[in-house]
Amino acid sequence: MEIVGCCGMDCGSCEVRRATERNDMETLSKMAVAEEIRGGRSFILPSKMRCTGCTEPGAKSVACAGCKVRMCALQNGIPHCGFCEEFPCDLGDAIWEALPEYKKNLERIRSR
Ligand code: SF4
Ligand code: SF4
Repeated sequence: MEIVGCCGMDCGSCEVRRATERNDMETLSKMAVAEEIRGGRSFILPSKMRCTGCTEPGAKSVACAGCKVRMCALQNGIPHCGFCEEFPCDLGDAIWEALPEYKKNLERIRSR
């Protein structure tokens, strides 16, 4: 199933989302440790990693819930940046430079 996040990330293949669906707390626990290291954070409860996808109803992981691009798209009332007249904007540029496949996902959606 295709679930594209606001920045163009592929939530459909995200291991966090899959582990949430399976209620796999062991994997979510490992993901929480990885996020602590990646984000320089203190202890993250595995339950705080639960995520159903960036724009899907339900839980959002601490890794993505506060993403500025996500917040901007939601404030603009659009499911992702591919529907924004400003795309590609400065706010998302760092993500799209580091992860060009995200930008390609949005361009693909935009051209439909
Ligand atoms: S929003 Fe959720 S499903 Fe999408 S990439 Fe982030 S953690 Fe994974
Ligand atoms: S302004 Fe940028 S971050 Fe905000 S919705 Fe548009 S493209 Fe996305």
